[in-house]
Amino acid sequence: MLTTHDLANRPLSLTITDDDGGTETVSVRADAQGAVSMTCSCRRYAAEGWCRHLVDLACMRLRDCGITDPDVDARFEEVVAGTPLEIAANDIDYRLACVSQQAERVAQALTAGPSRDAMETLAVAARDLAQAAESASDALRRFTRRAAGGID
Ligand SMILES: [Zn+2]
Repeated sequence: MLTTHDLANRPLSLTITDDDGGTETVSVRADAQGAVSMTCSCRRYAAEGWCRHLVDLACMRLRDCGITDPDVDARFEEVVAGTPLEIAANDIDYRLACVSQQAERVAQALTAGPSRDAMETLAVAARDLAQAAESASDALRRFTRRAAGGID
């Protein structure tokens, strides 16, 4: 069994493939206190300290990232499952889905034309979108901190 001590000395390295066939390298480490951190070689991670790859992996969607080796799958789960990083990843996943849903409502309201009812509907949808986006922004900040091995 892989212990957190092993991971601190020798990080788990995963080669992932994304939707357009590119490959990236994700590194998973656990410190002596068991805090798990993850980094990715992609541009978004370099720019923002988080990326969809890390969220998908921490949400245990390893197959979506092109990981089919059951041994790698098991080792990753052993390290990440049940950690605050996994919880933060599920939270951001949910909140980003809420943003998409609210943005769709705004887009629909805009197609209705400039009537008074349409403007009321648009105002409500836009307020909901703003709230969802603020929540997603907070959740991203928490996830980014977790992925860096920090705590809230
Ligand atoms: Zn990435």
